[in-house]
Amino acid sequence: MGLFSKKPPCPICGGKISWFLPSKIEGEYICDTCHNKIDMETDKESQLTMQSFREYLTFYDQNQLLKDQFVISERIDFGLWDTKIIFDYQNKLFCLSKNLDKTVFEGKQLKSFIIKEDSAPLFEGSAAGLRRYASTVPERAMALAPQISQFMMNRQMARAMDKLDDGKANWSAPRQYFDVPEPFQVFNVELHFDHPYWTVIKCDMDGPRFDNNLPDVNGYIRSYQRSIGEIEKLVTAFKTVAFPEAPDQSIGHGAAGAQAVHTTMAPPVDAIGEIKKYKTLMEEGIISQQEFDAKKKQLLGI
Ligand SMILES: [Zn+2]
Repeated sequence: MGLFSKKPPCPICGGKISWFLPSKIEGEYICDTCHNKIDMETDKESQLTMQSFREYLTFYDQNQLLKDQFVISERIDFGLWDTKIIFDYQNKLFCLSKNLDKTVFEGKQLKSFIIKEDSAPLFEGSAAGLRRYASTVPERAMALAPQISQFMMNRQMARAMDKLDDGKANWSAPRQYFDVPEPFQVFNVELHFDHPYWTVIKCDMDGPRFDNNLPDVNGYIRSYQRSIGEIEKLVTAFKTVAFPEAPDQSIGHGAAGAQAVHTTMAPPVDAIGEIKKYKTLMEEGIISQQEFDAKKKQLLGI
């Protein structure tokens, strides 16, 4: 036997075994074509035997029939980067890939799902009902408004001070960036299945971020609301394929709360405009520095 002795063909399909890192099941090499068909939970994959792999291939071929009839009704963001989930509302199917190259799930195989903002539940769905929980994110974003105004003011002040010596901006001076943690980091999505090869699928989707150069609560909340729009699409899609009859329940203030946020959102923005007006008055010598400082504190509520 030479060093480059030929490996026996794939025991499943008789195909050629890859020379580079071929996969094994129960110590036997299988070909890449067979291996690439595997789409299941990691621990199930690690426990595959030749027998259970053959059973899986039967499942795989049946799943191919679902792929053949799949008609894409909607594509929704799912996970990071350009990952999508596609839905077929007619046949009540979905696939966690935009290319139909993964397992196609039947809606009835989805037992429940939960979407959280970090660890706080936002949506929960099952045949028992679809629950929406009130989010505290907009309020917590609002609560950062004074801190943001202060940051912008400090930076403006630093720039003004910098210009004082020679009337020119010193762009080599260290720039200040806003560095405060957002109200939450990720939307955490968990799907629970009644399925031979999948029990749970989890994925994280990034929440909005503050612009660290020009942080702005309104901008943050707008982009939060856009994300919520996408999340709601996802929720509606899961409900449509998995439990169309499930009743809707809202927990907490829900939409009314979002409305309230709009009203309380205005003051910090106005405050900044007001402060700018007072600043001009100060620069024109109409009011003193002390009067300006007092007004600024009052407007920012600090
Ligand atoms: Zn093979």
